[in-house]
Amino acid sequence: MQQSEFIDIENQFGAHNYKPLDVVLSRGKGVWVWDVDGNKYLDCLAAYSAVNQGHCHPKIMEAMVAQAEKLTLTSRAFRNDQLGPFYRELCQLTNSHKVLPMNSGAEAVETAIKTVRKWGYTVKGVADDNAEIVVCENNFHGRTISIVSFSTDENARAGFGPFTPGFKCVPFGDAAALEAAINENTVAFLIEPIQGEAGVMIPPAGYLKKARELCDQHNIVLILDEIQTGLGRTGKLLAEEYEGVEADLTIIGKALSGGFYPVSAVLSNTEILGVLQPGEHGSTFGGNPLACAVARAALKVLFEEGLIENSFKQGEYFLSELKKISHPAIKEVRGRGLMVALEFHSEIGGARAYCNKLKDEGILAKDTHENIVRFAPPLVIQREEIDILLEAINKVLPPV
Ligand SMILES: *Cc1c(COP(=O)(O)O)cnc(C)c1O
Repeated sequence: MQQSEFIDIENQFGAHNYKPLDVVLSRGKGVWVWDVDGNKYLDCLAAYSAVNQGHCHPKIMEAMVAQAEKLTLTSRAFRNDQLGPFYRELCQLTNSHKVLPMNSGAEAVETAIKTVRKWGYTVKGVADDNAEIVVCENNFHGRTISIVSFSTDENARAGFGPFTPGFKCVPFGDAAALEAAINENTVAFLIEPIQGEAGVMIPPAGYLKKARELCDQHNIVLILDEIQTGLGRTGKLLAEEYEGVEADLTIIGKALSGGFYPVSAVLSNTEILGVLQPGEHGSTFGGNPLACAVARAALKVLFEEGLIENSFKQGEYFLSELKKISHPAIKEVRGRGLMVALEFHSEIGGARAYCNKLKDEGILAKDTHENIVRFAPPLVIQREEIDILLEAINKVLPPV
């Protein structure tokens, strides 16, 4: 089939809830992907950071195939021999006491919301049905009804009401606004340490630390959504390390499986996840042996291959080289590790057109909003490949 035929049948038979670039991919290895015509591209989105370990990593693939031949799904009505080892390894790596495994990121966010509400009623002593969770403007935490209920993106909300109550929204990076939003019913503050979908927005230094202090002062659970920032993306295992804070609940997903399979998890100390009793929450596929085996291999690869350090090192190089580009269209470049954004002046805009031009140069990157292009390649990327990327970025900058 021609590339155009694939696009036609996708458009004809599929719901149009995405607007993908017109490239039909059929193969991937490491940082590279190939389309059905055999053209090669450097993947600078890495499936929104789910493929941190690189496409089709052989060790994760091997673990997946081996487990698929043995046992894939038992449901949690029975135990399986992958779950305990997965829990222990994940807790040891992240300094957590407890894990609750789910599948998608949104499900893990929903899990965190349910858990802190219950914690609020049973531990903190909030009156029934009064729990409030503070969130940030321009957040992205997923697509379920409750999650879009506290989105500030009209596209994500319009037409989907009625919405779930119990959320209060404050400007991202504004500790005074957070403090002002807190009352006796506040059970949690839910935040991305760096806002990914908003365009790699990094809060002012000291903000997360201040948020941590406020949460301690008012007996509030700090929930960090590290689904995108976690597992090496920003050059640390978790982005919270940049501010030396520790969340009470940490949500991870995406790269937890290296892109092979949806695996997410909520991590916490004993007190918080401990409020859940048998029968109160669950998932048919959550914690299945195939997911656990894949996640164990994906975590192992992350550490054994030094991908977190590589993310830090290559990210510093990439960002410093990007900063050297002096071009009137560029408003700002920013990032941490391999989570980098290039923002154009709004009167120039055209991030989407820019991504299309990059595609013609063999680079796949994603526009976010009108003016921002995000670069988040797999963490296995090497300096030569970053040089290829830099050359393409330079080549297709808009004419002055
Ligand atoms: C991707 C993402 C989610 C949602 O994950 P899904 O697997 O798509 O449900 C939630 N929070 C953040 C920060 C994300 O980047």
